[in-house]
Amino acid sequence: MRTSVIAGNWKCHTRLQSAMALAAGLRERIGGIDGLEKVVCPPFVYLAAVGEALRGSSISLGSQDVHWQDDVAATGEVGPRMLAELAEYVIIGHSERRHQFGETDEMVNRKVKAALAAGLKPLMCVGEVLQERQAGLTEEVLVRQARGGLTGVEMPDGFIIAYEPVWAIGTGTPATDADAANAIAVIRREVASMSGFAKAETVRILYGGSVTPENIAEFMSRSDIDGALVGGASLKVDAFSVIVEEAARVKAGAS
Ligand code: PEP
Repeated sequence: MRTSVIAGNWKCHTRLQSAMALAAGLRERIGGIDGLEKVVCPPFVYLAAVGEALRGSSISLGSQDVHWQDDVAATGEVGPRMLAELAEYVIIGHSERRHQFGETDEMVNRKVKAALAAGLKPLMCVGEVLQERQAGLTEEVLVRQARGGLTGVEMPDGFIIAYEPVWAIGTGTPATDADAANAIAVIRREVASMSGFAKAETVRILYGGSVTPENIAEFMSRSDIDGALVGGASLKVDAFSVIVEEAARVKAGAS
């Protein structure tokens, strides 16, 4: 039985005051919901403050990126061991990192290994862009990114991957639950070919891309979809709370 995860990616949004208000509001509203993991990923600069605001609650802290080394000359980067002092989870290989900042599968792979070695829980993102989808290359891209990111990785049980079709991120046009489930099956099959069927069955694979309070139930009702990575809707206490509530309700009904 895989425990679902709902993670909020705050991206480059909020200021200190609004980040604190969001954290306090979520603590109040969803702190008491159990049966799934709830994670918020604020910008690096607010990790400490948000972590303090969530201390002792059931909501975990994640970051949006990490470098693969500590104690090196890498201006502007945050190393895995320093990050592990503050956060529990880390998003790695988000499409905005890949496509705006040139992150490659090889960099993703290094980051995943370094994060695991530091005791962090990676949330590794994969997903095709629109042109790849239109050219019928979705499966090929997912296989390449999954294999590239996970080569040589000793995955702990419950490792997290997020399938995020790039064309669905921030567009208001989500994948259908059927398309998401098909893509997730491709990813799980690839993980199985690398690490064995038993390990692949423990891996949590989330869907991300224009998830809202209105559509979360469709995704969660698919047995192969283990949660969601949420961008825009994670910035509002009410929207993110409803997403968490609905996810918990659907998965509880299915178990
Ligand atoms: C994301 O950035 O990971 C994301 C899924 O964004 P949105 O929910 O806004 O599409």
